[in-house]
Amino acid sequence: MRTQRRESPELPHRRKNLLTGEWVLVSPQRTNRPWRGEISEPAVEQKLPYDPSCYLCPGNKRAGGEVNPNYEHTFVFTNDFPALVENPSDNSTKEDSRLSFRAEHGICRVVNFSPRHDLTLAEMTQSEIERVIVAWKEEFTRLGSNPRINYVQIFENKGLLMGTSNSHPHSQIWAQQSIPTEPAKELKQFKLYYRGKKRGLLADYLKLELRIKERVVYENPSFVVLVPYWATWPYETLVVSRRTIGSLLQFTSREVKDFANALRVTTIKYDNIFQTSFPYSAGLHQAPTDGKNHSEWHFHAHFYPPLLRSATVKKFMVGYEMLAEPQRDNAPELSAKVLRDLPVRHYKVSVFRIGVTSPLTKLLWERKLEHCQLAILLPFSQDC
Ligand SMILES: [Zn+2]
Ligand SMILES: [Zn+2]
Repeated sequence: MRTQRRESPELPHRRKNLLTGEWVLVSPQRTNRPWRGEISEPAVEQKLPYDPSCYLCPGNKRAGGEVNPNYEHTFVFTNDFPALVENPSDNSTKEDSRLSFRAEHGICRVVNFSPRHDLTLAEMTQSEIERVIVAWKEEFTRLGSNPRINYVQIFENKGLLMGTSNSHPHSQIWAQQSIPTEPAKELKQFKLYYRGKKRGLLADYLKLELRIKERVVYENPSFVVLVPYWATWPYETLVVSRRTIGSLLQFTSREVKDFANALRVTTIKYDNIFQTSFPYSAGLHQAPTDGKNHSEWHFHAHFYPPLLRSATVKKFMVGYEMLAEPQRDNAPELSAKVLRDLPVRHYKVSVFRIGVTSPLTKLLWERKLEHCQLAILLPFSQDC
């Protein structure tokens, strides 16, 4: 792997995604081409701690009619408009050489990160993110122990560019009977490697990355954040546990803290690239909950952010990508260097924390002011 890249890093080449077995085309020479594509001003999103029209804020009525409690930390509920339903009335299966059909049983949950409408992971404190991880762990434990649930997908879709329907920071959990396509591809690759080498695929890959260091973005005692060798999205990252563990179930309290730290640092660095709330799709890939032993699986999280050249110019997966295979221009090593060199302090430095229902919050809402604007007027401030 190392030798191939050193031979011609500036020329077009393909890299294999170890986790899926699929290939990505890298064309570094194209980064010099004249850019005549979309250039637009960044959309400034004014967000306040509480939004009376948001169906995820505390005390507000949800789209399905239920009223949210005045929650103070994370808040978990069953999705009012789920993509999967429990015990679908049609339970049939039809396997055919032309048309195949399988009824799918599942449960969809929503995890609001905090009561704050304006705080993404990048602006939350480490202890607040730890509460999110604990909520994910509880949900994974409960859903995964259901004998009809064989896979639990925890994910976050952040930002209008990613089609988020509600900007209140939250994640979703889709738990289902089948192992869906992406984790199924990874399961196959993990198993193939484990059978052949009697070692874990990601453990071996992590060893290599830690020796080379070129694509490592950030490390703490339990996790490593890196731009994978096969990264497709401009600033794609992989968060890998140092220990070979299958899921949140095996997390120690130290690992909960360190995972929160890794998520916080990664999202802060993302926001700092273009000084914007960086959009992405991200999620955890954990071992299936099908009752089988999955020693081959290695816990990891993917971040797939679409932004390419500015706060508004994103990469489109179209044309060649739709018809042939994923392609990227700049080398993943360059993205890793950009991310590694960015500060771990969020670019919004003058933000202080106040309660959702405090008089100050109401003042902010009435006057349509942002926290940082008010912070200038007041003699104190507190970093998030
Ligand atoms: Zn809200
Ligand atoms: Zn994965």
